[in-house]
Amino acid sequence: KVRVRFAPSPTGPLHLGGVRTALYDYLFAKNQGGEFVLRIEDTDTARYVEGAEDYIEEALEWCGIIPDESPKKGGKFAPYRQSERRDIYDRYTEQILTTDYAYIAFDTAEELDAIRAEYEAKGDVFSYDNKTRNRLRNSLALSEEEVQQLLEAKTPYVVRFKMPVDRTLGLVDIIRGNTSVNTDTLDDKVLVKNDGMPTYHFANIIDDHEMEISHVIRGEEWLPSLGLHTLLYEAMGWEAPEFAHLSLILKPEGKGKLSKRDGDKFGFPVFPLNFTDPATGHVSKGYRESGYLPEAFINMVALLGWSPADDKEILTLDEMVKEFDLHKVHKAGARFSKEKSEWFNHQYIQKKSDEELLNILKNSDLNLNTEDEKLLKIIHLMKERATFPKDIYENGKFFFEAPTSYDEKASKKAWNEETSNLLTEFAENLNSINDFVSENIKQNLHDFAENKGLGMGKVMMPLRLALVGELKGPDVPDILELIGKEESVARISNAVN
Ligand code: GLU
Repeated sequence: KVRVRFAPSPTGPLHLGGVRTALYDYLFAKNQGGEFVLRIEDTDTARYVEGAEDYIEEALEWCGIIPDESPKKGGKFAPYRQSERRDIYDRYTEQILTTDYAYIAFDTAEELDAIRAEYEAKGDVFSYDNKTRNRLRNSLALSEEEVQQLLEAKTPYVVRFKMPVDRTLGLVDIIRGNTSVNTDTLDDKVLVKNDGMPTYHFANIIDDHEMEISHVIRGEEWLPSLGLHTLLYEAMGWEAPEFAHLSLILKPEGKGKLSKRDGDKFGFPVFPLNFTDPATGHVSKGYRESGYLPEAFINMVALLGWSPADDKEILTLDEMVKEFDLHKVHKAGARFSKEKSEWFNHQYIQKKSDEELLNILKNSDLNLNTEDEKLLKIIHLMKERATFPKDIYENGKFFFEAPTSYDEKASKKAWNEETSNLLTEFAENLNSINDFVSENIKQNLHDFAENKGLGMGKVMMPLRLALVGELKGPDVPDILELIGKEESVARISNAVN
């Protein structure tokens, strides 16, 4: 049975990379008819950030990435919060200490600092590993009596992994293929801290085993831990899951990892939702609040590092599930593009019905103050040019209020000494139209221009300027119909005077 977990640490808001990991976890699980689990890895209390867990759950929900099992939802392997699984870890701490893969170490932080400084003075870097551990204060270096005494005196200790000497480990990664690492390049990581809580490495493999996780799909930053994790499974006598490590998301210019601060720097969100830092009060912008549709957002995220078979670009979540293939995930980093994100949003706005867009606008902070019927018509005319829902309103402001000024460049182009008379005459003409709909207006405009022996543009351009204030917007007859006869005439008279 395929079971995949997303295992974020609640150390801050989920960022683009985290969303992509969760999405690929989900897509793979669902593609295989399996389950997707959300597990909160909160054993590192020093880095815990208030509100981060709720943020993660809300963000996944907005994206439509709904876990089958999670801290809130529960499930047969509950609890799904590591801080609540202490008794399970205690049991396995005892177990690993009976093997030759772990030992206890009494070194204090001060002692380790002193050794580090000593190495530094020689221009070296200290590492607690299979070359140094015999000179340190641990159960491998001390006599049994010494260890016993220290334990009886309630001396705090940690549990460390005992990295084997000179073993070459073959590592398999679904995306990257086969690699290997020699154990002499790895250190003796702490598995259990002196407060009895496991570190990430130990809790992670225990939970993946306990929760029957079949595939671990996670960020590339965990690749250096794969050797240790492989050995931890061996130490516990468990079968390891399969692994796939996802490449980085790169900055827009393609160099370096996209960082949490890049949003502010480049002027685009790197978080799915707004996040208020509880420590500083700083608000990081989110995609949701910036006017992105969740469908567009996850479509954009999905293609950061994966291309479906036929290079299709627009896919719903269900289509992604059908097409997702871990073997097609790119080995190289994926470059983020703000323009591409906007392109996706534009595409998805076109897919929305006028009614859906009306709903979105009415639920936004815009003060529309116009009856639905008119709003729907405005939406219909303006959505083609909209990247964000609010563009419909902002680019269509002239539907709601008369222009207060006229674009200077446009005036030069559209206006001459005959224009005032021409438009005044046209305004009178408008009054004669009984059924004031765009079709009739268009006919009228056409006849008017023909009578005057003028091209349509010669009338249309100054007219547009009078109605809109600049040379933008949808077709002039459509604008006239929506603004209405009275208001149109008023705007023309305003412009000619
Ligand atoms: N808690 C780790 C993180 O925050 C999970 C890494 C993993 O998926 O193994 O990224």
